[in-house]
Amino acid sequence: MRGLIQIFIFVLIGLVLLWFGYTLYFSPQSIFFGFEKKKRRRRPRGEGTPGAPQTCPVCSALLSPGELVKSVAFPSFTGKDRLMYISGCNHCLNGDRLRSCPVCGSRLRDNEILVARMFDRPRRSHVHIIGCSRCRLKK
Ligand SMILES: [Zn+2]
Ligand SMILES: [Zn+2]
Repeated sequence: MRGLIQIFIFVLIGLVLLWFGYTLYFSPQSIFFGFEKKKRRRRPRGEGTPGAPQTCPVCSALLSPGELVKSVAFPSFTGKDRLMYISGCNHCLNGDRLRSCPVCGSRLRDNEILVARMFDRPRRSHVHIIGCSRCRLKK
C-alpha cells in the first residue's frame, strides 16, 4: 500500500513539473505558441490604452502584429479560466520602458510579473489582469 502511494506522489510531481514547463507566448492574433510569426513593418512605438488588445499589460506599449507578450499559462482546474503569469513584451523586458502593475500601480522589477486569469474563448481568448507579484502574491 505504501509503495502505491509513493508511485502516486511521483506521478503527481511529474505532472506539476510538466505544467511549469508549459510555456506559451501570446499576442492578440495568436494566443497559442506564437504560431503566427509573420513579420510586418513595425509601427512607431506609441502608447496603447491599458487593457486594450495589442497593448502590453505591463508597460502599456502599443504592439505591432508580430510582437508577442511573454507569459506562462497553467492548465485549468475549473475548466473555465486559467491562471497566467505575464512577464512583459520585448520593450519592457529590455528595460526600454517602465514596468508597472495596472492594479496597484507599483513599479515592477525585472523579475516581477503580473498575475492574470485567461478565459479561453472560441475566437479570441480574454485575459484579465488581477495583480502583480507584489500585490497579488504577497502574504
Ligand atoms: Zn511591455
Ligand atoms: Zn500590483
